[in-house]
Amino acid sequence: MFIDPHAHMISRTTDDYEAMAAAGVVALIEPAFWVGQPRTFVGTYVDYLSTIVGWERFRAGQFGIRHYCTVGLNSKEANNEELAEGVMEWLPRFALKEGVVAIGEIGYDEQTPLEDKYFRLQLELSKELNLPVMVHTPHRDKKRGTSRSMDVCEEMGVDPSMVIIDHNNEETVAETLQRGYWAGFSIYPSTKMGNARMVEILKQYGSERIIVDSACDWGISDPLGVAKTAELALKSGISEETVRRVCYQNALDAYGQSGQMKEEDWLTPPAIDQRTVYEGNSILRGGRDPLISVPGEERKANLIIE
Ligand SMILES: [Zn+2]
Repeated sequence: MFIDPHAHMISRTTDDYEAMAAAGVVALIEPAFWVGQPRTFVGTYVDYLSTIVGWERFRAGQFGIRHYCTVGLNSKEANNEELAEGVMEWLPRFALKEGVVAIGEIGYDEQTPLEDKYFRLQLELSKELNLPVMVHTPHRDKKRGTSRSMDVCEEMGVDPSMVIIDHNNEETVAETLQRGYWAGFSIYPSTKMGNARMVEILKQYGSERIIVDSACDWGISDPLGVAKTAELALKSGISEETVRRVCYQNALDAYGQSGQMKEEDWLTPPAIDQRTVYEGNSILRGGRDPLISVPGEERKANLIIE
């Protein structure tokens, strides 16, 4: 069993859900982020948040995967002050919805004053609601941006055990772990942080507070990043226990602090019945035969029948 704690499924297809379920992904977390281009209205942002807590959760369930999400104002769009103010008014309402496991992904992009302002405001919100925080660390000037993100969490009085610092690499991992934070790693195929590099990090740092995710989104990315890393790690002689922790248990322990994500959710799952609808819409198209499975049956029954 795997958990992918960072997957932008809104941008992925039903084939991806089928492949993830077949590879053993039982649960995933969809962080709120930008959509590839700037949103220009608060309403667009609100509808996006409604989609990730609503339709996308339903869609994942139709493939036997439990879907959770994080809500937040991302760092890029924090630079549009009018939009940012509007989103901040809506966030507390979304943060209290079922299946929301953290405030995120928040943090820095270009490390501007407005990014700093909204990062701090959202850390404050996470404290008020006692929710974990998913921090997106910048791709440019990463080392400084990562240290600064942790400095600000501490200045704001957020406990490191409630914070997942994501998109780590070889340069940032030691500091992230040493300061007591969860260290997320996004596996991007054939670049940046590939799974072979991840295996080396596991050899060096072990499994404590390390979390592997795919960060699959609209770009070149792989929704099987977690499963493939697990496979490579096992082949490379890393223990099953280490793999279980970094590809499953640590994500559950970190985000389970929200009280919204529990193992029973997928150990005793609801039946899959693809005839069901969400606000009148189903995932079925063109007279396809629906998959219907009964809880307790072999998980294999969750694979889609043609
Ligand atoms: Zn992301």
